[in-house]
Amino acid sequence: MNDLPSTRLEIDLQALEHNFTYFKKQIRKETKIIAAVKANAYGTDAVAVGKQLEALGVDYLAVVFTREGIALRKAGIKTPIIVFQAMPREISQLVEYQLEPSLYSDSMFRAFSVYAEENNLNEYPVHVKFNTGMNRLGMALSQAESLGIAFETSNNLKLKSIFTHFAESDDKTHKEFTEKQIRKFNRVSKELESALGYMPMRHACNTMGVLNYPEAHYEAVRIGIGLYGYTYDKKINEKLKVVGRLVAPIIQKQYLNPGDSISYNRKFIAEVPMIIATIPLGHADGINRAYGNGKGWVYLNGRKAPILGNVCMDMVMIDVTEIACDEGDLVEVFGENNSAIDLANSIGTIYYELIAGVTNRVPRHIIEN
Ligand SMILES: *Cc1c(COP(=O)(O)O)cnc(C)c1O
Repeated sequence: MNDLPSTRLEIDLQALEHNFTYFKKQIRKETKIIAAVKANAYGTDAVAVGKQLEALGVDYLAVVFTREGIALRKAGIKTPIIVFQAMPREISQLVEYQLEPSLYSDSMFRAFSVYAEENNLNEYPVHVKFNTGMNRLGMALSQAESLGIAFETSNNLKLKSIFTHFAESDDKTHKEFTEKQIRKFNRVSKELESALGYMPMRHACNTMGVLNYPEAHYEAVRIGIGLYGYTYDKKINEKLKVVGRLVAPIIQKQYLNPGDSISYNRKFIAEVPMIIATIPLGHADGINRAYGNGKGWVYLNGRKAPILGNVCMDMVMIDVTEIACDEGDLVEVFGENNSAIDLANSIGTIYYELIAGVTNRVPRHIIEN
């Protein structure tokens, strides 16, 4: 058993470069890219991905939490980093690590302004988010003018960018809603510009926005999932390469007789003689329990092997009755051969959740080329 290959999430940095290059071609030359590396770069490895994007010349990195930004700085990343959801009590840390906050609410704006004044910051770069319809985070449109004036009169802060977020950039059947968001954002930008005296960098598009709304690319776009090889457009996915590949070995093969059951609560009972294999990946690794009982599958030696019975915390059992295989063979849970999109769809969720949900327990293995 010593030389069995181990469970791992392989991260293909060449695939990342390929996807980055693809998206660069979808935007104007002067449009900047803000790459989302939140949630451990969508479940991969934020430091490895961040360093590779830095080497590729990305303009900004974006994370959600302050601690995510600090981890990138501690790893030596120098690229500007936007923090979407910093908290007022983290402001001194933001400044210490040269992280650029999104000021997404009145309280965050006030807290940062007070800190900047008290600490004599000099034109510290910040970003302001406007809520144009997502109703998650952001300033009200009516605040544009007063914010413009506040930044115009402050030497402590520099408004680097303003942005908004689309609620359904992926669904072109609801084009009117996104178009309404675009009009609102245009209006708010103009109002702010006239109070401020210049137009800060503007951005609105996530991955699907980049693909579906070229008229809203503005001066920058925020790309996350597409860089990791996934979009909601099948044709485009063919042009992208999957960055993360989750694999695990068969650690035991067993023969079942009719009437034998599998896993907790005996949800699966063999009706005929069967061969099953055990894979060391479970719900503590990010394989949702909903994948059990025939819903989910893994890819093994060119075939789909269904997951039988309940998913355990640390293991799943798969049906290999019809698949020639041995202990030590690797299964692919998702990757180039086994689409995370189809697998996630099988339990009614989206691929973002599946790929970003691979927990820390799974070792990351970086493939440079
Ligand atoms: C995560 C995130 C993005 C990237 O979205 P994708 O759909 O992954 O491209 C863009 N903007 C904000 C504010 C985000 O939180």
